[in-house]
Amino acid sequence: MDLGIRGKRALVTAASKGLGRGCAMALAEAGVDLVLNARGAEALDATAAAIRAAHGVQVTTVAGDITSEAGRAAVLAHGPFDILVTNAGGPPPGMWHDWSRDDFIKAIDANMLTPVALMQGCLPAMIKRGWGRVVNITSQSVKSPIPQLGLSNAARAGLTGFVAGTARQVAPHGVTINNLLPGIHDTDRATALDGGVVKARGLTMEEARAERMATIPARRYGTSEEFGATCAFLCSQQAGFIVGQNILLDGGAVNLTL
Ligand code: NAP
Repeated sequence: MDLGIRGKRALVTAASKGLGRGCAMALAEAGVDLVLNARGAEALDATAAAIRAAHGVQVTTVAGDITSEAGRAAVLAHGPFDILVTNAGGPPPGMWHDWSRDDFIKAIDANMLTPVALMQGCLPAMIKRGWGRVVNITSQSVKSPIPQLGLSNAARAGLTGFVAGTARQVAPHGVTINNLLPGIHDTDRATALDGGVVKARGLTMEEARAERMATIPARRYGTSEEFGATCAFLCSQQAGFIVGQNILLDGGAVNLTL
């Protein structure tokens, strides 16, 4: 399907690996020029080179911490953008009684206030042009809490509330905002979470993965490629009537009727 976005410009943050990289690759396949961000310059440049080689689009890299004001200013300086995909690393797992105020502020900063600031930076130009697409990478924990990821549950719930209202405010201008909610996907983040289970319960990595896969109706982890393809569709012309939605990509793991 031609997504109708060839020649548009997208900002994808936290995009050198994993789900962000998957989104960047899929947008590039649709002919979108990219500004990509991550902290580590080496992996970021390698991803940019792979995307240019695969799809021939323009890719600019901006290395920096997207959760810092300076990091956000550096990427936003490359605007205006037609498409914004927000992403950042997720907060660490832990126990509710151990988290300090500072831990909560850090998580809220990274996984709520950073995407909010990026939207505030990009939406005015989208509204002015009468067209825009925003996709926020959040988590299945928005619909079904993951107890040990309480920092993520809390911060992402805040972002979800902001998007629910704001998406309706910008929709009259041809701008859509939606959230993509990953369940478990085969990325470094999943390896780190499984590593925690290995350490806590004395399992092998294979056992930890097999145990987790058994809880997913699709009996496997998702891939960055299929996640990216869904993101690119949400950024397409055809997705213009999808507004303020929270779309689960979880192999059926969250047991919900609606
Ligand atoms: P990943 O494979 O660990 O990749 C994270 C990417 O983000 C890397 O490119 C990393 O590069 C970059 N990054 C991390 N912190 C950053 C920061 N402060 N500023 C700029 N770039 C940053 O993670 P993932 O699995 O793709 O996960 C992406 C998001 O989805 C996370 O928020 C995660 O919690 C959430 N999620 C993932 C899963 C899953 O199963 N994978 C499930 C639910 C939710 P640098 O380290 O070089 O900065």
